[in-house]
Amino acid sequence: MADYDLAILGGGPGGYVAAICGAQLGLKTCIIEKDKLGGICLNWGCIPTKALLKNAEVYNTIKNADKYGIKVDKITVDFPANIKRSRDVSNRLRKGIEFLMKKNKITHIHGMGKLTSKTTIETTSSKKKEKVNAKKIIIATGARPRSFPGMEFDGKRVISSKEAMVLDAPPKKMIIIGSGAIGSEFAYYYNEFGTEVHLVEMMDRVLPVEDLDVSREVEKSFKKSGIKISIGTKVSQIDSLNTKVKVHTEKDDKKEILEGDVALLSVGVTGNIENIGLENIGITTDHGAIRINEFNQTNISNIYAIGDVSGPPWLAHLASAQGHVAADHAAGHSPKPVDYSNIPGCTYCQPQVGSLGMTEAQAKKAGHDVKVGKFSFQASGKAMAVGNTTGFVKLVFDAKYGELLGAHIVGGEATELIAELGVAKGLEATWEDIAMAVHAHPTLSEAIMEAALDAFGSAIHQ
Ligand SMILES: Cc1cc2nc3c(=O)[nH]c(=O)nc-3n(C[C@H](O)[C@H](O)[C@H](O)COP(=O)(O)OP(=O)(O)OC[C@H]3O[C@@H](n4cnc5c(N)ncnc54)[C@H](O)[C@@H]3O)c2cc1C
Repeated sequence: MADYDLAILGGGPGGYVAAICGAQLGLKTCIIEKDKLGGICLNWGCIPTKALLKNAEVYNTIKNADKYGIKVDKITVDFPANIKRSRDVSNRLRKGIEFLMKKNKITHIHGMGKLTSKTTIETTSSKKKEKVNAKKIIIATGARPRSFPGMEFDGKRVISSKEAMVLDAPPKKMIIIGSGAIGSEFAYYYNEFGTEVHLVEMMDRVLPVEDLDVSREVEKSFKKSGIKISIGTKVSQIDSLNTKVKVHTEKDDKKEILEGDVALLSVGVTGNIENIGLENIGITTDHGAIRINEFNQTNISNIYAIGDVSGPPWLAHLASAQGHVAADHAAGHSPKPVDYSNIPGCTYCQPQVGSLGMTEAQAKKAGHDVKVGKFSFQASGKAMAVGNTTGFVKLVFDAKYGELLGAHIVGGEATELIAELGVAKGLEATWEDIAMAVHAHPTLSEAIMEAALDAFGSAIHQ
């Protein structure tokens, strides 16, 4: 049996960041991964989808090249090469993580891990079984796509994001169930490559966790680009047939059957809490997630849980941030807990969405007297220059103290622009701090400064 100070179960962004932090803090660390280092994020999530979305954006720009005074006579898409670029990016990045494990002297155990006591994990690979003894353990086993009875994945006609990332060719018609980040990103991607996309959402708008104005803007843009959208529509069953799928929907007692070549189910995820030995030692779970405190400790104090397995929001950067906190705490320090009120959420379809903090409705519900500032990219010189004026910046402030409560950006580079507002919110910045910080001209970020000015009635360019 090998002895460690810290053992990490799962090698996704939560697990590998925790491992590196632990090793840098001087802990003898191992990471147990049954599949590939990098987890869902690097191999089947964040990274390969962003590569695919970039391919779609490039194609969109070429299709619209005449707008920039460039004439392209014949455009052909090499779809397998499109997919290959995404797989290549993932593979390259994964090799980088393998290198980081070696550089930080972290033992990488390839196998399936299961807790057998509060300090031991049994690992099983095709080659051997071993036992790992560790003073502290961090569980980072992630999550998997959710399905429901009557709508099970078959990998061919009823698919998850994983299969959607490696299809041989764009299907003629795809029905996407669920318009969260994953559903919306694939809707944009496949629509660009000529698939007839029908997006079905149970809630009353697309991207239902976003600010209402953001959902409306994305919906408007999607519809304009040809994506069909059914909101307030519940899917009760999916029939997977030889050559097609039948998706049974219900809206206000009206039943309809939608037909397509393939159905992509993107209705959330559930934590990988099974078969990892939680019951053996009595670790508490709740609704498919491990319960944790602010330092990511479970009810057993030397065992931590981070990332998707510890519940929503299911985001790679949250998993990594929790990895930092857990490793630091496991090393005996007193880290600053993650600020859950300031986690950016990004959706990388076009228009992109980047948001954090409270929506306008949430701020009002929480009792704030709010001041809202908004600035449209239609009035931004840089947006005009680059040829993409879709979207806006919307900032929600507390009227009494002027403190930033929430930021909501929809538009071409929203996922990059949101970062400055994370820093601003973390520092409890007011509208004045944001408005008076000189933003470079011409940049899309000027729209943030203008939105802050607008909240107090003094926007310059609108
Ligand atoms: C299509 C898609 C797109 C996404 N895009 C984004 C995005 O743009 N931005 C974002 O922030 N998030 C995105 N996400 C979510 C993001 O991928 C997850 O939040 C993130 O991967 C969670 O990290 P994690 O470390 O908790 O778990 P994971 O990345 O899921 O890693 C868990 C690892 O644990 C391993 N494991 C599980 N059980 C065991 C066991 N018993 N023994 C050994 N190993 C085990 C698994 O093999 C896996 O490698 C996306 C997800 C999907 C599916």
